[in-house]
Amino acid sequence: MENLLKHLVELTGHRDHNLLDISVISALKDLVGATQARVLEIFRLREELYLRPRVWLKNGQVASTEEHADGDQGGEPLSNYPALVSCIEHRQNSAEEETANKEYVMWIPIWLNDKVTTCLEITNSVPFNAQVMDVMGGILSVYRNFQNLLDYSERDSLTGLLNRKTFDEKFSKMASSVTSSENSADDERRHGDAKEQWLAVVDIDHFKRINDTFGHLYGDEVLILIANLLRQSFRSQDRIFRFGGEEFVILLRSTTLEDARRIFERFRANVEQYNFPQVGQVTVSLGFVSISGETPVVILGHADQALYYAKTHGRNQVCYYNELVNNGLLHSEVSNDEVEFF
Ligand code: GH3
Ligand code: MG
Ligand code: MG
Repeated sequence: MENLLKHLVELTGHRDHNLLDISVISALKDLVGATQARVLEIFRLREELYLRPRVWLKNGQVASTEEHADGDQGGEPLSNYPALVSCIEHRQNSAEEETANKEYVMWIPIWLNDKVTTCLEITNSVPFNAQVMDVMGGILSVYRNFQNLLDYSERDSLTGLLNRKTFDEKFSKMASSVTSSENSADDERRHGDAKEQWLAVVDIDHFKRINDTFGHLYGDEVLILIANLLRQSFRSQDRIFRFGGEEFVILLRSTTLEDARRIFERFRANVEQYNFPQVGQVTVSLGFVSISGETPVVILGHADQALYYAKTHGRNQVCYYNELVNNGLLHSEVSNDEVEFF
Protein backbone atom coordinates (compact mmCIF):
# COMPACT_ATOMS: atom_id res chain seq x y z
CA MET A 1 0.00 0.00 0.00
CA GLU A 2 2.78 2.38 0.98
CA ASN A 3 4.63 1.41 -2.17
CA LEU A 4 1.54 2.04 -4.27
CA LEU A 5 1.12 5.50 -2.76
CA LYS A 6 4.75 6.32 -3.38
CA HIS A 7 4.32 5.51 -7.07
CA LEU A 8 1.08 7.46 -7.34
CA VAL A 9 2.74 10.52 -5.82
CA GLU A 10 5.57 10.19 -8.30
CA LEU A 11 3.28 9.71 -11.30
CA THR A 12 1.20 12.75 -10.45
CA GLY A 13 4.25 14.97 -9.80
CA HIS A 14 5.38 15.16 -13.43
CA ARG A 15 4.77 17.86 -16.01
CA ASP A 16 6.65 16.08 -18.76
CA HIS A 17 5.60 13.13 -20.95
CA ASN A 18 8.98 11.45 -20.75
CA LEU A 19 9.13 11.51 -16.94
CA LEU A 20 5.53 10.33 -16.78
CA ASP A 21 6.40 7.38 -19.06
CA ILE A 22 9.42 6.54 -16.92
CA SER A 23 7.43 6.54 -13.71
CA VAL A 24 4.61 4.40 -15.11
CA ILE A 25 7.17 1.80 -16.19
CA SER A 26 8.90 1.80 -12.82
CA ALA A 27 5.53 1.53 -11.04
CA LEU A 28 4.62 -1.48 -13.19
CA LYS A 29 7.99 -3.08 -12.55
CA ASP A 30 7.70 -2.70 -8.75
CA LEU A 31 3.98 -3.37 -8.28
CA VAL A 32 3.29 -5.97 -10.96
CA GLY A 33 6.75 -7.57 -11.04
CA ALA A 34 6.83 -7.35 -14.84
CA THR A 35 9.90 -8.93 -16.45
CA GLN A 36 9.65 -6.57 -19.39
CA ALA A 37 7.60 -3.40 -19.91
CA ARG A 38 7.64 -0.80 -22.70
CA VAL A 39 5.84 2.42 -23.52
CA LEU A 40 5.32 2.33 -27.28
CA GLU A 41 4.49 5.17 -29.59
CA ILE A 42 2.15 4.37 -32.47
CA PHE A 43 2.48 6.54 -35.55
CA ARG A 44 1.42 6.68 -39.16
CA LEU A 45 3.91 6.83 -42.01
CA ARG A 46 2.72 6.77 -45.63
CA GLU A 47 -0.65 5.24 -44.70
CA GLU A 48 0.96 2.45 -42.63
CA LEU A 49 0.93 2.23 -38.84
CA TYR A 50 4.24 1.74 -37.07
CA LEU A 51 5.35 1.38 -33.50
CA ARG A 52 8.53 2.36 -31.70
CA PRO A 53 9.55 2.20 -28.03
CA ARG A 54 9.73 5.44 -26.10
CA VAL A 55 10.64 4.04 -22.67
CA TRP A 56 11.51 0.47 -21.70
CA LEU A 57 13.04 -1.71 -19.00
CA LYS A 58 16.58 -2.93 -19.58
CA ASN A 59 18.25 -5.18 -16.98
CA GLY A 60 15.83 -3.90 -14.38
CA GLN A 61 16.63 -0.25 -15.24
CA VAL A 62 14.37 2.17 -17.07
CA ALA A 63 15.78 3.49 -20.37
CA SER A 64 14.33 6.11 -22.72
CA THR A 65 14.87 7.50 -26.24
CA GLU A 66 15.15 11.03 -24.84
CA GLU A 67 18.60 10.15 -23.56
CA HIS A 68 19.87 10.24 -27.15
CA ALA A 69 20.31 13.53 -29.00
CA ASP A 70 18.57 12.47 -32.20
CA GLY A 71 16.20 9.91 -30.69
CA ASP A 72 15.72 8.55 -34.20
CA GLN A 73 14.82 4.92 -33.70
CA GLY A 74 12.87 4.15 -36.84
CA GLY A 75 9.96 1.85 -36.15
CA GLU A 76 8.44 -1.58 -36.70
CA PRO A 77 5.22 -2.16 -38.64
CA LEU A 78 2.28 -2.53 -36.26
CA SER A 79 1.24 -5.55 -38.30
CA ASN A 80 4.11 -7.50 -36.65
CA TYR A 81 1.87 -7.54 -33.56
CA PRO A 82 -1.46 -9.11 -34.58
CA ALA A 83 -2.78 -9.31 -30.99
CA LEU A 84 -2.30 -5.55 -30.58
CA VAL A 85 -3.80 -4.80 -34.01
CA SER A 86 -6.91 -6.79 -33.09
CA CYS A 87 -7.12 -5.09 -29.67
CA ILE A 88 -7.09 -1.65 -31.33
CA GLU A 89 -9.49 -2.65 -34.09
CA HIS A 90 -11.99 -3.86 -31.48
CA ARG A 91 -11.43 -0.71 -29.40
CA GLN A 92 -10.53 -2.78 -26.36
CA ASN A 93 -8.74 -1.40 -23.32
CA SER A 94 -6.42 -4.39 -23.04
CA ALA A 95 -5.63 -7.77 -24.57
CA GLU A 96 -3.59 -10.66 -23.16
CA GLU A 97 -1.44 -12.88 -25.33
CA GLU A 98 0.59 -16.01 -24.59
CA THR A 99 3.78 -16.10 -26.63
CA ALA A 100 5.50 -19.15 -28.15
CA ASN A 101 8.15 -19.11 -25.38
CA LYS A 102 5.53 -19.25 -22.61
CA GLU A 103 5.51 -15.59 -21.65
CA TYR A 104 2.38 -13.58 -21.04
CA VAL A 105 2.05 -10.22 -22.73
CA MET A 106 -0.56 -7.62 -21.84
CA TRP A 107 -1.26 -4.97 -24.48
CA ILE A 108 -2.79 -1.76 -23.17
CA PRO A 109 -3.61 0.95 -25.71
CA ILE A 110 -4.01 4.39 -24.11
CA TRP A 111 -7.15 5.84 -25.64
CA LEU A 112 -7.30 9.63 -25.78
CA ASN A 113 -10.28 11.12 -27.61
CA ASP A 114 -10.89 7.95 -29.63
CA LYS A 115 -7.28 7.81 -30.78
CA VAL A 116 -4.32 5.70 -29.77
CA THR A 117 -0.84 7.14 -30.04
CA THR A 118 0.58 5.40 -26.97
CA CYS A 119 0.43 1.77 -25.93
CA LEU A 120 1.91 -0.19 -23.04
CA GLU A 121 3.33 -3.68 -23.41
CA ILE A 122 3.81 -5.59 -20.17
CA THR A 123 5.43 -9.02 -20.13
CA ASN A 124 5.13 -11.50 -17.27
CA SER A 125 6.40 -15.02 -16.70
CA VAL A 126 3.03 -16.10 -15.22
CA PRO A 127 -0.53 -15.27 -16.36
CA PHE A 128 -1.94 -11.97 -15.07
CA ASN A 129 -4.32 -12.65 -12.17
CA ALA A 130 -7.29 -10.56 -11.05
CA GLN A 131 -5.40 -8.80 -8.26
CA VAL A 132 -2.56 -7.77 -10.57
CA MET A 133 -5.10 -6.57 -13.15
CA ASP A 134 -6.73 -4.43 -10.46
CA VAL A 135 -3.50 -2.75 -9.44
CA MET A 136 -2.54 -2.20 -13.08
CA GLY A 137 -5.98 -0.76 -13.83
CA GLY A 138 -5.54 1.85 -11.08
CA ILE A 139 -2.06 2.88 -12.17
CA LEU A 140 -3.14 3.12 -15.77
CA SER A 141 -6.16 5.34 -15.05
CA VAL A 142 -3.88 7.80 -13.29
CA TYR A 143 -1.39 7.59 -16.17
CA ARG A 144 -4.14 8.14 -18.77
CA ASN A 145 -5.59 11.16 -16.94
CA PHE A 146 -2.17 12.73 -16.62
CA GLN A 147 -1.39 12.14 -20.30
CA ASN A 148 -4.62 13.98 -21.07
CA LEU A 149 -3.81 16.90 -18.79
CA LEU A 150 -0.29 17.21 -20.16
CA ASP A 151 -1.55 17.13 -23.71
CA TYR A 152 -3.99 19.89 -22.90
CA SER A 153 -1.31 22.15 -21.39
CA GLU A 154 1.18 21.52 -24.20
CA ARG A 155 -1.10 22.22 -27.12
CA ASP A 156 -2.72 25.18 -28.81
CA SER A 157 -6.50 24.96 -28.63
CA LEU A 158 -7.28 26.21 -32.17
CA THR A 159 -4.93 23.99 -34.19
CA GLY A 160 -4.00 21.18 -31.77
CA LEU A 161 -0.32 21.82 -32.55
CA LEU A 162 2.25 22.14 -29.74
CA ASN A 163 2.22 25.62 -28.23
CA ARG A 164 4.89 28.26 -27.73
CA LYS A 165 5.60 27.30 -24.12
CA THR A 166 6.31 23.72 -25.20
CA PHE A 167 8.58 25.02 -27.94
CA ASP A 168 10.68 27.00 -25.46
CA GLU A 169 11.15 23.90 -23.30
CA LYS A 170 11.81 21.41 -26.11
CA PHE A 171 14.06 23.70 -28.10
CA SER A 172 16.34 24.62 -25.17
CA LYS A 173 16.72 20.91 -24.44
CA MET A 174 17.42 20.04 -28.08
CA ALA A 175 19.88 22.91 -28.61
CA SER A 176 21.89 21.99 -25.52
CA SER A 177 22.05 18.28 -26.44
CA VAL A 178 23.28 19.26 -29.93
CA THR A 179 26.01 21.47 -28.42
CA SER A 180 27.35 18.57 -26.37
CA SER A 181 27.66 16.25 -29.39
CA GLU A 182 28.74 19.00 -31.75
CA ASN A 183 32.34 18.46 -32.91
CA SER A 184 32.06 14.90 -34.21
CA ALA A 185 29.88 15.88 -37.16
CA ASP A 186 32.03 18.80 -38.36
CA ASP A 187 33.75 16.95 -41.15
CA GLU A 188 30.60 15.47 -42.62
CA ARG A 189 28.90 18.83 -42.33
CA ARG A 190 31.53 20.38 -44.57
CA HIS A 191 30.53 17.87 -47.23
CA GLY A 192 26.86 18.65 -46.74
CA ASP A 193 25.85 15.03 -46.10
CA ALA A 194 25.75 15.03 -42.29
CA LYS A 195 22.47 14.33 -40.58
CA GLU A 196 21.61 17.38 -38.53
CA GLN A 197 18.65 18.88 -36.71
CA TRP A 198 16.91 21.79 -38.43
CA LEU A 199 14.66 24.62 -37.36
CA ALA A 200 12.24 26.39 -39.70
CA VAL A 201 10.00 29.38 -39.11
CA VAL A 202 6.89 29.53 -41.29
CA ASP A 203 4.72 32.62 -41.75
CA ILE A 204 1.54 32.83 -43.83
CA ASP A 205 1.78 35.37 -46.66
CA HIS A 206 -0.60 38.34 -46.54
CA PHE A 207 -2.68 36.77 -43.82
CA LYS A 208 -4.05 40.17 -42.81
CA ARG A 209 -5.66 40.41 -46.23
CA ILE A 210 -7.42 37.07 -45.67
CA ASN A 211 -8.85 38.33 -42.37
CA ASP A 212 -9.80 41.69 -43.86
CA THR A 213 -11.45 40.21 -46.95
CA PHE A 214 -13.19 37.14 -45.54
CA GLY A 215 -13.35 37.80 -41.79
CA HIS A 216 -11.65 36.22 -38.79
CA LEU A 217 -13.62 32.97 -38.94
CA TYR A 218 -12.25 32.18 -42.38
CA GLY A 219 -8.84 33.30 -41.15
CA ASP A 220 -9.11 30.80 -38.31
CA GLU A 221 -10.13 28.07 -40.73
CA VAL A 222 -7.03 28.75 -42.83
CA LEU A 223 -4.92 28.34 -39.67
CA ILE A 224 -6.55 24.97 -38.94
CA LEU A 225 -6.10 23.76 -42.53
CA ILE A 226 -2.46 24.87 -42.61
CA ALA A 227 -1.92 22.99 -39.33
CA ASN A 228 -3.35 19.87 -41.04
CA LEU A 229 -1.04 20.34 -44.03
CA LEU A 230 1.89 20.69 -41.61
CA ARG A 231 0.95 17.43 -39.88
CA GLN A 232 0.69 15.66 -43.26
CA SER A 233 3.96 17.07 -44.59
CA PHE A 234 6.29 16.09 -41.76
CA ARG A 235 7.31 12.85 -40.08
CA SER A 236 6.07 11.85 -36.67
CA GLN A 237 9.47 12.36 -35.05
CA ASP A 238 9.55 15.99 -36.23
CA ARG A 239 7.89 18.56 -34.01
CA ILE A 240 5.47 21.25 -35.17
CA PHE A 241 4.52 24.26 -33.07
CA ARG A 242 2.12 27.15 -33.42
CA PHE A 243 4.53 29.86 -32.44
CA GLY A 244 2.27 32.87 -32.56
CA GLY A 245 -0.81 34.07 -34.47
CA GLU A 246 0.00 32.88 -38.00
CA GLU A 247 3.55 31.72 -37.41
CA PHE A 248 4.69 28.13 -37.02
CA VAL A 249 7.99 26.52 -36.09
CA ILE A 250 9.19 23.08 -37.20
CA LEU A 251 11.98 21.06 -35.63
CA LEU A 252 13.25 18.50 -38.11
CA ARG A 253 15.31 15.61 -36.81
CA SER A 254 18.34 13.83 -38.26
CA THR A 255 18.21 14.87 -41.87
CA THR A 256 20.77 16.00 -44.45
CA LEU A 257 20.65 19.54 -45.83
CA GLU A 258 19.31 18.33 -49.19
CA ASP A 259 16.53 16.31 -47.55
CA ALA A 260 15.62 19.18 -45.21
CA ARG A 261 15.35 21.54 -48.18
CA ARG A 262 13.26 19.03 -50.14
CA ILE A 263 10.91 18.41 -47.17
CA PHE A 264 10.36 22.14 -46.49
CA GLU A 265 9.90 22.83 -50.19
CA ARG A 266 7.33 20.02 -50.45
CA PHE A 267 5.36 21.57 -47.59
CA ARG A 268 5.46 25.00 -49.27
CA ALA A 269 4.19 23.44 -52.52
CA ASN A 270 1.45 21.49 -50.65
CA VAL A 271 0.09 24.78 -49.28
CA GLU A 272 0.33 26.54 -52.64
CA GLN A 273 -1.61 23.73 -54.35
CA TYR A 274 -4.33 23.43 -51.71
CA ASN A 275 -7.71 24.93 -52.47
CA PHE A 276 -8.85 26.72 -49.29
CA PRO A 277 -12.66 26.91 -49.08
CA GLN A 278 -13.87 30.39 -50.07
CA VAL A 279 -10.39 31.89 -49.70
CA GLY A 280 -8.80 30.00 -52.63
CA GLN A 281 -5.01 30.05 -52.76
CA VAL A 282 -2.83 30.77 -49.72
CA THR A 283 0.97 30.74 -49.69
CA VAL A 284 3.62 30.59 -46.98
CA SER A 285 7.22 31.75 -46.63
CA LEU A 286 9.79 29.74 -44.72
CA GLY A 287 13.26 30.42 -43.32
CA PHE A 288 15.41 27.59 -42.00
CA VAL A 289 18.74 26.98 -40.32
CA SER A 290 20.62 24.05 -38.82
CA ILE A 291 20.56 23.69 -35.05
CA SER A 292 24.25 24.19 -34.47
CA GLY A 293 26.14 25.01 -31.30
CA GLU A 294 24.66 28.53 -31.11
CA THR A 295 22.27 29.59 -28.38
CA PRO A 296 18.53 29.10 -28.99
CA VAL A 297 18.00 32.88 -29.38
CA VAL A 298 20.68 33.12 -32.07
CA ILE A 299 19.39 30.07 -33.98
CA LEU A 300 15.85 31.39 -33.95
CA GLY A 301 17.12 34.86 -34.94
CA HIS A 302 18.89 33.37 -37.98
CA ALA A 303 15.81 31.45 -39.11
CA ASP A 304 13.85 34.67 -38.71
CA GLN A 305 16.35 36.60 -40.84
CA ALA A 306 16.01 33.98 -43.60
CA LEU A 307 12.22 34.25 -43.32
CA TYR A 308 12.42 38.02 -43.54
CA TYR A 309 14.53 37.66 -46.68
CA ALA A 310 11.90 35.37 -48.21
CA LYS A 311 9.20 37.92 -47.32
CA THR A 312 11.04 40.83 -48.89
CA HIS A 313 11.97 38.89 -52.04
CA GLY A 314 8.63 37.74 -53.36
CA ARG A 315 7.21 35.51 -50.57
CA ASN A 316 6.00 31.91 -51.26
CA GLN A 317 9.55 30.54 -51.00
CA VAL A 318 11.96 28.61 -48.78
CA CYS A 319 15.22 30.31 -47.78
CA TYR A 320 18.23 28.73 -46.10
CA TYR A 321 20.11 31.08 -43.78
CA ASN A 322 23.67 29.79 -44.43
CA GLU A 323 23.20 29.92 -48.18
CA LEU A 324 22.03 33.54 -48.00
CA VAL A 325 25.06 34.43 -45.87
CA ASN A 326 27.49 32.53 -48.13
CA ASN A 327 26.10 34.32 -51.17
CA GLY A 328 26.51 37.69 -49.48
CA LEU A 329 22.76 38.28 -49.40
CA LEU A 330 22.53 38.38 -45.61
CA HIS A 331 24.98 39.45 -42.94
CA SER A 332 25.59 36.94 -40.21
CA GLU A 333 25.06 39.23 -37.24
CA VAL A 334 22.26 38.51 -34.81
CA SER A 335 19.26 40.62 -35.55
CA ASN A 336 17.61 42.49 -32.73
CA ASP A 337 14.27 42.71 -34.45
CA GLU A 338 11.23 41.73 -32.53
CA VAL A 339 13.11 38.70 -31.12
CA GLU A 340 11.81 38.25 -27.64
CA PHE A 341 11.70 34.53 -27.70
CA PHE A 342 12.89 33.54 -24.25
P1 GH3 B 1 3.24 38.96 -44.46
O1 GH3 B 1 3.12 38.29 -45.78
O2 GH3 B 1 4.27 40.02 -44.47
O3 GH3 B 1 3.46 37.98 -43.35
O4 GH3 B 1 1.86 39.71 -44.22
P2 GH3 B 1 0.78 39.37 -43.09
O5 GH3 B 1 -0.44 40.17 -43.44
O6 GH3 B 1 0.59 37.91 -42.97
O7 GH3 B 1 1.54 39.82 -41.79
P3 GH3 B 1 1.13 40.45 -40.44
O8 GH3 B 1 2.05 39.92 -39.41
O9 GH3 B 1 1.07 41.93 -40.60
O10 GH3 B 1 -0.33 39.94 -40.15
C1 GH3 B 1 -0.62 38.87 -39.35
C2 GH3 B 1 -2.08 38.91 -39.05
O11 GH3 B 1 -2.49 37.70 -38.44
C3 GH3 B 1 -2.49 39.98 -38.05
C4 GH3 B 1 -3.54 39.33 -37.16
O12 GH3 B 1 -4.76 40.00 -37.28
C5 GH3 B 1 -3.70 37.95 -37.75
N1 GH3 B 1 -3.86 36.93 -36.72
C6 GH3 B 1 -3.01 36.61 -35.72
N2 GH3 B 1 -3.51 35.58 -34.98
C7 GH3 B 1 -4.70 35.24 -35.53
C8 GH3 B 1 -5.70 34.25 -35.20
O13 GH3 B 1 -5.58 33.45 -34.27
N3 GH3 B 1 -6.80 34.17 -36.02
C9 GH3 B 1 -6.95 35.03 -37.07
N4 GH3 B 1 -8.04 34.90 -37.83
N5 GH3 B 1 -6.05 35.98 -37.38
C10 GH3 B 1 -4.93 36.08 -36.62
MG1 MG C 1 3.50 37.27 -39.01
MG1 MG D 1 2.16 36.73 -42.28
